[in-house]
Amino acid sequence: MAHRAGWLPEMPVPSLDLSTPSLTIDRRRAEFDDPAVEDRFIHHLLPQRNAQLKGSLLFAAAFYVLFGVTDLATLGDTNVAWFLVGLRVLVAGVALGGHYAITRRPGSVRVSIAAACALLVAALGVFMVVAWFQPEALPWNTMSQALILMAVYVNFPNRFMYSVAIGVGSSVVFGTMLAVQGFLKADDLLTLVLLLILANALGYIAAIRFNLAQRQQYRSAVLERQQADRDPLTGCYNRRVLHKGLLDAELARARRYGTALSVILCDIDHFKRINDTHGHTAGDLILADFAGMLMAMTRETVDRVVRYGGEEFLLVLPETDLAGAHALAERIRLAFACAISRVESGKAVSATASFGIATVPVMHTEPPVSAGKLIDAADAQLYAAKRGGRNAIRGGEVEPRVLRAGS
Ligand code: GH3
Ligand code: MG
Ligand code: MG
Repeated sequence: MAHRAGWLPEMPVPSLDLSTPSLTIDRRRAEFDDPAVEDRFIHHLLPQRNAQLKGSLLFAAAFYVLFGVTDLATLGDTNVAWFLVGLRVLVAGVALGGHYAITRRPGSVRVSIAAACALLVAALGVFMVVAWFQPEALPWNTMSQALILMAVYVNFPNRFMYSVAIGVGSSVVFGTMLAVQGFLKADDLLTLVLLLILANALGYIAAIRFNLAQRQQYRSAVLERQQADRDPLTGCYNRRVLHKGLLDAELARARRYGTALSVILCDIDHFKRINDTHGHTAGDLILADFAGMLMAMTRETVDRVVRYGGEEFLLVLPETDLAGAHALAERIRLAFACAISRVESGKAVSATASFGIATVPVMHTEPPVSAGKLIDAADAQLYAAKRGGRNAIRGGEVEPRVLRAGS
C-alpha cells in the first residue's frame, strides 16, 4: 500500500502546499495538465456547457434553413440552388441530431464535444460549397466566414484545441478557394485573407482567455475547499471534516463491504511541560513533527489523519483490524520516542505519545454505529494508556451493538 512520501525525523513538516501539481494548467492547450482533473472540471461544467450548446445548435439549424432563401435569391430556381438548399437542410439535420443526442445523454462529455464538432464541420463544409457556387458574392461570404469563426471560438463549447483546428482549418480552405476562384484583384484578396487572419486571432484570444479563466476559478474553489479542511500548523485534516461526516462515511463503507475499521487517538505526553520548558514555538515544532510522522507512516489515499485537539490526533484506518492498528501504533510510538526535534534554540528535544485504539470488527447485519461513540471508546483506551504510565498503547474491539447510533 502506498505510504506518504519520505519522512525524516528532524525535518519540519511543510504547511499546506498550495501549488498542488495536479491543479496546474497547460496554458497552451488551455486545459489542466492532469487529465483526471480536466475530466472532473468538464463534468462539473457539463450542464451549463450543454445548455449553451443546445441553444447554439438550435440557432444554427434555424439560421441555415433561413439562409437557404439567399441561395434561391442569388441563383434563382435552379438545380444548383436547390442542391445548396438541400445541403443547408442537411446541416440543420446534423444540428438537430446533436441536440437530440445531448438530450438523451446529458452526462456524456464525448457526446457533447462530438455534437459541437460535427455541427461545425458540417456547417463550414457546406458553407464552402455554397461560397464556391456564388463566386460574385465571395467578399460577402468572407465576411460571413469571419462571423462564423466567432461562433466556432466562442458560442460552441468545445475543447480549445478543436476550436482552433476547426477555425484555422476552415480559414485555410476558404482562403485557398478565394485564390483558386481567381475573380479577385490581388489587393482585395489580400484584404480578405487579412480579415480571416484577424477573425482567427480575435477568436483565439477570446477563447483562450475564457478557457483559462474558467479553470483558474475552478482551481481557486478547489484549493479554498482543501484549505478549509486543513489545519494550517500541521497540514492534517481539522475537526471540520469529522463534522462533515468523514468517519460516518467510512463506517458506512466498512459496513457495506464487510470490513473492519479502526480509529486511534494519539496524544503527546506531558506536552504542557514541553511548552513550559522550551517555549510555545518549540511546542509547535514538535507538534508539526509528530503530525508529519503520522502522515508519513499511514497510507496516503486510505487513512486519514485529523488534528482532533491541541496535541491530540485521530487516525481513521479503514480495512484495519485491531492487530493491524496495534502494529501501526507501535511503529509510530517507537519512531516518535526515538526521534528528536531541533528547536529554535538549537536544543534537541524529544517526546513520547500515548495511543488509544478502538476497532469495529467486521459488521454484517448490525444497524449503523455512531462515529462519536467510536471516538469515545478510543478516548477511554487513551485514558487507560495515560494512566498506565504513558508512552503506551491500549486498545480493544468494540461490539457494534454498544456503538449503535442513537442508543
Ligand atoms: P498528558 O500527558 O496527560 O497528555 O499531559 P499534557 O501536558 O500533554 O496534557 P494537557 O492537556 O495538560 O496539556 C496540553 C497542552 O497542549 C496545553 C496546551 O497549551 C498545549 N497546546 C495545545 N495546542 C497547542 C499548540 O497548537 N501549540 C502548542 N505549542 N501547544 C499547544
Ligand atoms: Mg497530552
Ligand atoms: Mg491532550
